[in-house]
Amino acid sequence: MDLWIQPCARCADLYGMPATEPPHQDLTLNGAGAVKDARAEEHYTCLRCRGVFARILAGPPTRRIWMLLNAGQH
Ligand SMILES: [Zn+2]
Repeated sequence: MDLWIQPCARCADLYGMPATEPPHQDLTLNGAGAVKDARAEEHYTCLRCRGVFARILAGPPTRRIWMLLNAGQH
């Protein structure tokens, strides 16, 4: 079983960027109900590498970033 994806170049670039950055072109917004509070964060899935991002929209500015939830490196 392989839970971890290898991020494509666009996802690798977006990882850790401020949430004010727009999503890259292969990301699709996950449907309503995917997250508990859509005002606090949005979840996206990459069509290219299956990476799942959380775009943190609330909290301290330093925490408002693009987080890759299933990246291989950690
Ligand atoms: Zn990707």
